[in-house]
Amino acid sequence: DINTITLCGGGNAAHALIPIIRTHFQGTISLFLPYKDEAEHFQFLIREDQHIKAYTPKGVLNARPDRVSKSAAEACQDADLVIISLPAFAHEFTLSQILPFLKPNALVGTMPARSGFEYSALRLLQDHQREAIGIFGFQTLPWACRITHYAREVDILGQKASVGLAAFPHSISEELADDFTRFLGLTITPLPNMLTLSLANVGQLIHPGIMYGLFKGQEDCKYRKEDIPYFYQGVTQETARTLEHLSAEVRNVTQALQTRNPVLDLSQVISLKEWLLTTYSDSIADSSSLQSCFVTNRAYQGLRAPMKEIEDGYFLPDFQARYLTEDIPYGLVVTRAIAQLAGVQTPAIDEVITTTSRWMHKSYLERGELCGKDIQDTRIPQKYGIQDVKDIMF
Ligand code: NAD
Repeated sequence: DINTITLCGGGNAAHALIPIIRTHFQGTISLFLPYKDEAEHFQFLIREDQHIKAYTPKGVLNARPDRVSKSAAEACQDADLVIISLPAFAHEFTLSQILPFLKPNALVGTMPARSGFEYSALRLLQDHQREAIGIFGFQTLPWACRITHYAREVDILGQKASVGLAAFPHSISEELADDFTRFLGLTITPLPNMLTLSLANVGQLIHPGIMYGLFKGQEDCKYRKEDIPYFYQGVTQETARTLEHLSAEVRNVTQALQTRNPVLDLSQVISLKEWLLTTYSDSIADSSSLQSCFVTNRAYQGLRAPMKEIEDGYFLPDFQARYLTEDIPYGLVVTRAIAQLAGVQTPAIDEVITTTSRWMHKSYLERGELCGKDIQDTRIPQKYGIQDVKDIMF
């Protein structure tokens, strides 16, 4: 039975989760907030009998957590379920802070998981001799959400119709998906394995692929505000070709893994175009090509490329945006590492990683080897001692 849920994180996603879970769950909601003075803001809510207001298309939700702490012991020791809703770079150290205090059979996972979460989590569980703890990851965050006033107000938009969840051991995934379906008030579907989360992470293709297409060779080009390129509507035929290559390489990896292990279910790792058509069937006007699926998709309309302002009114591409700083080390680099274990060449993925890494002043791939100076800040399986492809097929 799940009586206490602990949320780790004080950003947009956590602000959305508190009122959404409160609407559907009667137990205790605890918040673990070790970062800066975030805990104090939420403790104020409790002291002053105030609530967070969440503005959703269906109305306003009011809620606050029952308990807030900077201490992992206090926030986590009675948790039955822990949801880490943080940017991927914070997953590993957050998990290592809370693990010593979790109950023997607690469940802990990330929302969203991004790629390679299971390698990092299973290694930590082993190091702490806490293998009875179940882990899970969500394929995406079910909403788009933005804090408008810290610990006070959040906008929640664009709820997905359903979101996939994978768990280890797999045997817990069905019940967990049912629990989350109740706690979140939307359909959560169990996925066959956590490898699916890594390989079917389409953000790792779309975000770096489009950044590459928009800015390769134009890195220093300054834009006026009104000239900032549209992100998805800016997909040219050439960018679409890059995206097609990235997607095809992921398919090659998937096929190589399935050849080695025919019972491994990777049926949900689909091509980018199939994914677009499934996810946005109603909002794509012209589905004849990958390019037209992006540029005629109403859901993508009007969104601009990430930029930073440099001098009065001029902008440069923002290479520190999450589209690169999250989707490369916790996305495409993990897929590249899985490809290596599977013995599959990935020239398009390598090119996108190499170019975008340079933009971020990072190095992951050096002369085709995963030995760049920043490889320790990724979640490639090799970093956790996995050298054999059979050890990722669970
Ligand atoms: P966010 O930027 O709002 O998260 C910031 C929070 O992370 C901070 O409030 C703090 O609690 C924590 N944090 C930041 N730096 C830290 C540090 N150095 N040490 C410890 N904690 C630190 O992120 P978000 O928008 O909530 O996104 C969470 C995840 O969900 C990301 O992976 C993001 O890509 C994904 N996502 C978000 C949205 C969205 O609409 N917000 C949509 C899709 C996916």
